Amino acid sequence: MDQFRLYELKTANAFELELMIIPFVDLKVQYKAIQSEIDTAINSVLDSCQFTLGTEVVEFEKEFATYSGSVHGVGVNTGTSALHLALLSAGIGPGDEVISVPFTFVATAAAIHYTGAKTVFVDIDPVTYCLDPALLEAAITPRTKAIIPVHLYGQAADMDPILAVARKHNLVVVEDACQAHGAEYKGRRVGSIGDIGCFSFYPGKNLGAYGEGGMAVTGNATFGRSLRMLRDWGAEKKYEHVLKGYNYRLETIQGAILRVKLRHLDGWTEARRQAAKRYAALLAETGIPLPQEASYARHVYHIYAIRAPNRDALHARLLAKGIQSGIHYPHPIHLLPAYADLGYKRGQFPAAEQAAAEVLSLPMYPELTQSAQEAVAAAVIENYQK
Ligand SMILES: *Cc1c(COP(=O)(O)O)cnc(C)c1O
Repeated sequence: MDQFRLYELKTANAFELELMIIPFVDLKVQYKAIQSEIDTAINSVLDSCQFTLGTEVVEFEKEFATYSGSVHGVGVNTGTSALHLALLSAGIGPGDEVISVPFTFVATAAAIHYTGAKTVFVDIDPVTYCLDPALLEAAITPRTKAIIPVHLYGQAADMDPILAVARKHNLVVVEDACQAHGAEYKGRRVGSIGDIGCFSFYPGKNLGAYGEGGMAVTGNATFGRSLRMLRDWGAEKKYEHVLKGYNYRLETIQGAILRVKLRHLDGWTEARRQAAKRYAALLAETGIPLPQEASYARHVYHIYAIRAPNRDALHARLLAKGIQSGIHYPHPIHLLPAYADLGYKRGQFPAAEQAAAEVLSLPMYPELTQSAQEAVAAAVIENYQK
């Protein structure tokens, strides 16, 4: 009996070892590759007993602002907080309108809501998945104060026509670059093109903390000063509160980890771009729409989203084969119950609605191997032959 059970266990383990699981992202393989650098950085913070803001955060702010082609970097606890404070620094509040897109992560709209301003949506371009500049001007009213273009999936939004409209109507441009660290628009890094750029260091982002993190970057010293005060209770000097602020500070440990990881980011981005090229070659025969790098852009492939009319079935079939895929995002924000009060209806943003119904994100991370990509492509192709 015991012997039989032992045999059962052994075969179960052997089966598990042979079963190939291709994850959507793999944070562990990346940590293992840089473990000694990370552990040293964390231990030095523990030794210093400085746990919030501090030298590591100050240095990381300088390094990341420079990396993004900007000047002032203000580290905060999340990307959402960066967006919230960017709008507050620009003086946005109740009675104002802020334009953004319905096809993004919910945080973009949430940050507008936090300020008391009203969110006004403009549809996306169905190829780049970013704000369609041709539709922008029609959404402007006398109450419009700001525009938040989102550099979705790591692709830059078409900034020149957006900036032209913004200048004409005297609007602030806050870039949601939470998915686009190091992405470029006409050779310039995103985040440094509008007035304030906002980044997230959520673990799964292209530059991820081991916890939460975010940063706002700006070339404008006045915005920089208010961002810095607002993230730490509205004070420059302890207990001298000039503004009604928040506790949005970045932790020292995250600053130290992000400094280590920033040194690897260009290599990781290059690996993502290579992986995107391999997918494009492997999937060309399917004829299904693949991500397109805009002529003006350097795409950093945070997400590699294909479009499939039978998306939910394909999602399930890939999972049955041990391949994890994702959906970014299954519902455009204007159709979410939480934002029903904005008063939008189905049919108002057809490009966003169709994208939400069709996009499927394939596994994408710097360490993704050629053989894993071949297995993913084979499973996608098999689905189309049925
Ligand atoms: C991740 C993300 C955010 C929010 O960042 P957090 O750090 O999770 O708060 C905002 N906008 C977009 C487009 C994102 O992908």
